[in-house]
Amino acid sequence: MAEETIFSKIIRKEIPADIVYEDELVTAFRDISPRAPTHILIIPNKLIPTVNDVTADDEATMGRMFTVARKLAEQEGVSEDGYRLLVNCNKHGGQEVYHIHMHLVGGRPLGPMLVG
Ligand code: AMP
Repeated sequence: MAEETIFSKIIRKEIPADIVYEDELVTAFRDISPRAPTHILIIPNKLIPTVNDVTADDEATMGRMFTVARKLAEQEGVSEDGYRLLVNCNKHGGQEVYHIHMHLVGGRPLGPMLVG
C-alpha cells in the first residue's frame, strides 16, 4: 500500500489549497511555489505514486487529467500562446511528491525543454 502524501490531504480538504477544479477522478490546485504566472497541479484523486505505477485501469483518469488541463489552460487564457504539461517521475525525474501530478505551466515563454 503506497504511503499518502500531502496531496491526499488537499483532496480531502484537510489542509488548504487553491483548488481550481475537482470531479470524481481528478483535483487541480495552484502550485504553492509557482514557477510561472499559471502553475497548476492536476492530480488523480486515487493515490498513484508515480508514472511507474499507472495501469490500464487508470486510463480514464490519465485521459481526464489531459482534458482538465486543456480546460484549465483555456480558463487561464494561455491556450493560444501555449503552455507546458510536465510529469516528473522518481529521483532522476525530479519528483518530490509521490502522488502523480501533472504540472500545467504557462503565462510566459518557457524556453526550450529542460533536460538535465
Ligand atoms: P514535483 O517536483 O514534480 O514532485 O513537484 C511537486 C510540486 O508540488 C512542486 O512544484 C511544489 O511547489 C508543489 N507543492 C508542494 N506542496 C504543495 C502544497 N501544499 N500545495 C500546492 N503545491 C505544493
